Amino acid sequence: MHDTGYIHSIETAAAVDGPGMRFMLFMQGCMLRCWYCHNPDTWALRQGKEYTVQEVLNEVKPYKTFLKRAGGVTISGGEPLVQSEFVGEVLKELKAMGLHTALDTQGYLHTKISDEWLDNVDLVLLDIKHIRPEKYHDLTGVNLQPTLDFAERLSRLGKKMWIRYVLVPGVTDDPEDVRELGRFVCTLQGVERVEVLPFHKLGEHKWQALGLPYLLTDTPAAPADLVDQTVGVLREYDLPVR
Ligand code: SF4
Repeated sequence: MHDTGYIHSIETAAAVDGPGMRFMLFMQGCMLRCWYCHNPDTWALRQGKEYTVQEVLNEVKPYKTFLKRAGGVTISGGEPLVQSEFVGEVLKELKAMGLHTALDTQGYLHTKISDEWLDNVDLVLLDIKHIRPEKYHDLTGVNLQPTLDFAERLSRLGKKMWIRYVLVPGVTDDPEDVRELGRFVCTLQGVERVEVLPFHKLGEHKWQALGLPYLLTDTPAAPADLVDQTVGVLREYDLPVR
């Protein structure tokens, strides 16, 4: 068992990553290298602050009554499955406190976790960053298939999921690709929501600060009409798109 984990940051009141108001834990560590990553400072595993499970719970406890009524806890990153043993312990304790739990993941490492591990997760926010394997690889540096396998596994297990898709002009906005995504998501059980998240450039300065080459400097933020168009394509498949 891993008694400690590395956490990039904690937010006590977020309203976008799961239902209601969320207490957010952003974990360190990610093996993807998405061109649009907002948090390249989470990539390295042993940075941020080291916490014990008990220290994390101590952070959550003052908000417990509020969170039970208003939302829950979301574990995000980075990629939370990089530190799956520590995160699994935290999730177990949060469930024991009666809190709603959400896991925000791209699914690449899902074979590290057991079905029992997932018993302590009420909702999975699954990022599918592209539906074409070769474009996924360009965009992230890794293979797509583990993410699709995870989606199918969650479906088999009857887990609730929200599928998330970052809309990047010229990269993920081809309507044919979006249709292919729609066709895939239609095969899954348990999808409560499909979210189209417009690409924005708020993370660009972090790349510069870290001396990393940012490939999307000339790419504009996703305009509202492109978002509407993409949402419209997914709605052709009768999906619960937001
Ligand atoms: S999966 Fe998330 S944290 Fe990892 S590189 Fe992509 S956007 Fe960044």
